[in-house]
Amino acid sequence: MKVLVSGGGIAGTTLAYWLQRSGHEVLLVEHSPRLRTGGYVIDFWGVGYDIAETMGLIPRIRELGYQVGEVRFVDGRGRKSGGFATDVFRRMTDDRFTSVRRSDLAATIYRAIEGKVETIFGDSVASIEDEGDRVRVGFDRGAPREVDLVIGADGLHSRVRQLAFGPEAGFEASLGYHVAAFEAEGYRPRDELVYISHGVPGRQISRLSLRDGKTLFLFIFRDEYLSREVPSSERERKEALASVFADVDWEGPRILAALEKAGDIYFDRVSQIRMDRWTEGRTALIGDAAACVSLMAGEGTGLAMAEAYVLAGELRDCGGDHVSVFARYEERMMPFLKRKQDSAAKLASSFAPKSAFGLTFRDLVTRLFRIPSFADYFVGRSLRDDIELPDYGFEKRTSRSQALGSIAQGDRRLKSRTGGLMADDQDNPGIRVPPPLIYLLPLILGLLLDRTAHLPFLPRNVARALGWSLLSAGALLSGWFFKTMREAEAPVRTDRPVPRLTTEGPFRYTRNPGYLCLAMTYAGIAALRNSLWAIIPLPLVLYAVQREVIGREERYLERTFGEAYLAYKQSVRRWM
Ligand SMILES: Cc1cc2nc3c(=O)[nH]c(=O)nc-3n(C[C@H](O)[C@H](O)[C@H](O)COP(=O)(O)OP(=O)(O)OC[C@H]3O[C@@H](n4cnc5c(N)ncnc54)[C@H](O)[C@@H]3O)c2cc1C
Repeated sequence: MKVLVSGGGIAGTTLAYWLQRSGHEVLLVEHSPRLRTGGYVIDFWGVGYDIAETMGLIPRIRELGYQVGEVRFVDGRGRKSGGFATDVFRRMTDDRFTSVRRSDLAATIYRAIEGKVETIFGDSVASIEDEGDRVRVGFDRGAPREVDLVIGADGLHSRVRQLAFGPEAGFEASLGYHVAAFEAEGYRPRDELVYISHGVPGRQISRLSLRDGKTLFLFIFRDEYLSREVPSSERERKEALASVFADVDWEGPRILAALEKAGDIYFDRVSQIRMDRWTEGRTALIGDAAACVSLMAGEGTGLAMAEAYVLAGELRDCGGDHVSVFARYEERMMPFLKRKQDSAAKLASSFAPKSAFGLTFRDLVTRLFRIPSFADYFVGRSLRDDIELPDYGFEKRTSRSQALGSIAQGDRRLKSRTGGLMADDQDNPGIRVPPPLIYLLPLILGLLLDRTAHLPFLPRNVARALGWSLLSAGALLSGWFFKTMREAEAPVRTDRPVPRLTTEGPFRYTRNPGYLCLAMTYAGIAALRNSLWAIIPLPLVLYAVQREVIGREERYLERTFGEAYLAYKQSVRRWM
């Protein structure tokens, strides 16, 4: 088939690579006059890393990349306030993780197709006329062409999407932030392989030292700090950033001085693209054009590569039946991308927390990443790619049996190193962190803080009465819970199969007596100590338990006991 791919970024070049490998004729059209250079740095891992490996690109990507060793949050005077060593990522990904300029990644993929795929730089699709059996495409500059398919891989502000599906506003979901980035030469200080950030409520500046004496700066800020649309000219962008970050200390003034001299400033809204369909007639979208997850996901490039790989795989040997191909492509990839978008949207607030409390909390949580089970809990989920890419049997670059097999293998590796999937046939709720730990760690942390700065939150006599009542009630409930579980021969541990539904004893009144007594004990200890530091994390703890423990358990019980569990659920409340 003759396929026009609009956009020579990550998705477009990956698609062109796999299409030409299966014998399709590709025309790649890139808006920029030449391959883009510079720009922001991305983290690269997961499913995209696996695909790049099968393309033989990893050695080059790692060579161009940066093996960042630490993410460090600093206060206004540059003193460390939080952060973590990135070995937490390396451990969870089997060291299949690197940071690299987006432009270097795109160029590396492009080099693999250079000379094999017809490429037009400096032009753009201007019209798409779908004539049923082919598509007539007009360009801003060049002469019209006829092709079998048009694929929009032209990023967040896709022209193909606008032409085939309608205006961007109909699909763009703002995450409430703006982002800007620029590069400066000769900036001091440098901290090699450390990603340093300073945040004040709603705004954050970060820097990363790059090779050749360069430094990359990234600004993130909440929308309310910008009173206007995204500024278009370089001058307006500089003015906007200078005004939004004018009162930020740390290296703020020095960074704004470097900005003044800089060129090529990236500036955009932080948005996602959410669509119900990615295909229309003979046109399809991939990458950010189809389902931008935003920088909050830290995986947009890998996901773009996965979409490209699957679309090319489905097109292989399709016998010209693009309708079925497009349907399978959407079916395979849409639910996965929607889950990624949802989890990125939830993470958004942690990038530039709104309040001083949010910043302190993030600093504390990131410091705790050095405890492996804590890091697994907070980071593991977002590093998980719950998709298995098929082996489409492309002609192999090395040996036929090696290359693509490693995609499935790579994905399996990813699953095993990130704690596994909640596969439907898994006979336990899939909870890896013992729930008592989720209560214990924040409580200990709160009590430690309390020792350095005691902040009471109740009158003394109320604190004692409430504390003892909660502790006693918690102890009674816990005794009743353990007795009932023992009699029912049901496991208390959450990583064991549940042989039968327990609805006796305290389960007649609450579906979660175990977690309820842990919560009562936590609140009791915090009240007895009358410690504000200890009580503050409790809502978050309850939220985490609800989402990650109770939610998983309930899905598992529903799968295992079906109607019986649904009926029980209807008649008994959670109380948590
Ligand atoms: C600040 C920031 C940080 C990020 N951090 C990460 C991260 O850590 N990890 C990660 O994986 N992802 C990250 N991302 C997201 C990632 O960059 C994107 O998800 C990814 O680049 C999407 O690939 P794409 O090919 O769809 O789009 P792009 O890479 O944007 O490529 C689109 C291409 O289309 C071209 N184009 C545009 N318009 C036209 C047109 N009309 N005609 C022809 N060509 C056109 C562009 O010039 C470009 O080459 C980040 C994004 C931002 C903004």
